[in-house]
Amino acid sequence: LQSSHLSTSAQPSLKNRNSLRVQNLVGGSFIDSQSVESIDVLNPATQEVVSQVPLTTNEEFKAAVSSAKQAFPAWRNTPITTRQRVMLKLQELIRRDMDKLAMNITTEQGKTLKDAQGDVFRGLEVVEHACGMATLQMGEYVPNVSSGIDTYSLREPLGVCAGICPFNFPAMIPLWMFPVAVTCGNTFILKPSEKDPGASMILAELAMEAGIPDGVLNIVHGTNDIVNAICDDDDIRAISFVGSNTAGMHIYSRASAKGKRVQSNMGAKNHGIVMPDANVDATLNALVAAGFGAAGQRCMALSTVVFVGDSKEWEDKLVERARTLKVNVGTDPGADLGPVISKQAKERILNLVEDGVKSGANLLLDGRNIKVPGYEQGNFIGPTILSGVTADMECYKEEIFGPVLLCMQADSLEEAISIVNRNKYGNGAAIFTQSGVAARKFQTDIEAGQVGINVPIPVPLPFFSFTGSKASFAGDLNFYGKAGVNFYTQIKTVTQQWKDLPSGSGVSLAMPTSQ
Ligand code: NAD
Repeated sequence: LQSSHLSTSAQPSLKNRNSLRVQNLVGGSFIDSQSVESIDVLNPATQEVVSQVPLTTNEEFKAAVSSAKQAFPAWRNTPITTRQRVMLKLQELIRRDMDKLAMNITTEQGKTLKDAQGDVFRGLEVVEHACGMATLQMGEYVPNVSSGIDTYSLREPLGVCAGICPFNFPAMIPLWMFPVAVTCGNTFILKPSEKDPGASMILAELAMEAGIPDGVLNIVHGTNDIVNAICDDDDIRAISFVGSNTAGMHIYSRASAKGKRVQSNMGAKNHGIVMPDANVDATLNALVAAGFGAAGQRCMALSTVVFVGDSKEWEDKLVERARTLKVNVGTDPGADLGPVISKQAKERILNLVEDGVKSGANLLLDGRNIKVPGYEQGNFIGPTILSGVTADMECYKEEIFGPVLLCMQADSLEEAISIVNRNKYGNGAAIFTQSGVAARKFQTDIEAGQVGINVPIPVPLPFFSFTGSKASFAGDLNFYGKAGVNFYTQIKTVTQQWKDLPSGSGVSLAMPTSQ
């Protein structure tokens, strides 16, 4: 899967080990890191070592920033139509290699092949959107703000930008970042997740094939040290981050203290409110799909259901549907959900379930001891449902990020909304109802950045923006859409005067006012 980026310069004694090493991309060349340290990328269904991620050295990191800095002047002056054409070609190449990308994602991340295709497709849509950048990046113009004077604003690229990625969408999230940044005229340093760097490498290869000039897109691998180096580097102007709150808030404060722009998309606890008048069948299907799809490892996974009034009686039916889901290796065509990312993640999830049970929640469906024949070493957890969950429980306060659905109860829509609003996160929330009045009240009163009305995972398409709020986002310009273009550009405002100036009008030292 990594064939084109296998290291070839290993010392003989280390050759076998080093042959799995993922390369950096610096100045248009895929190169081996000289770092002796690396991290194993494990297939979460088998624990086989798929590849190894080097902990890029500081010199190598500096070389990547320097190549991005050198590439910037020519790239920003490249016609916007040419930059768009690179994206037009890239979207074609991503479609061509969709299966290869999906297989890489399933192997390194674990999700099912069909879900991996969706991961690529949702990123592909951002590339498609970037093909229309000329219109998105347009400035504004007001003629004759004063006699013979016009003012116009330009949206200019910032310079070198960087992106730091999480493990859960190995293709979609890098594609939220670099296509928008580079089509605006910036150059880019991408730091993929150390858990599944393969999709980023394939995408970078495709970007090169699409004609992206050397140095415009660079990739450096590593973990905390490289991230801190990105935050501190004076030549990097902006950072896009997606991942956990611990890392996100650290990066937000460290990089903004250095004067950088930061957009930081972080954790979530997304609630679905179920009204008694909702369509039972469609609602249950939505809850099961959004709760357990991708083994719950989506930032927009619907991880908590609030049943209002009599809808509580649907819990049994919910359990029956969830019980039928097939847990298997992601390459199995019948699999509904694959393993979670790591043994540590599995342990953390099991501990939170255990804690919920100890705190008094009812374990209606227990997926903790699931065995997948032939994949005994996999990090599998079956669909798990806890009911009678209350807001003081650890399993409710923490983001579980696994195939665990929590059920709560409320007597009224008002009470359900206040439960959701008391939660610190504000990524997404959904309501299931046939009442326009209830839906409208929910839309108005709910404190979440992305609202679904009979839609369980309301992730906006790229002509809108991904608008998480409260503890799920730090910064003020969101990813993709108009806000994404604004994030990667700065405004320059020009005031010009072209008129025949009468001679002998004298000098005025007063602040100019409109004449
Ligand atoms: P993570 O925070 O562990 O890792 C994300 C990136 O940060 C990685 O590249 C990692 O190397 C780096 N990193 C981690 N800890 C760091 C530290 N202490 N210092 C510096 N860098 C550090 O996140 P993850 O486990 O890969 O991803 C899962 C999380 O991402 C979940 O919380 C999920 O909700 C969130 N997520 C959010 C969105 C969104 O749009 N809001 C989308 C996807 C995932």
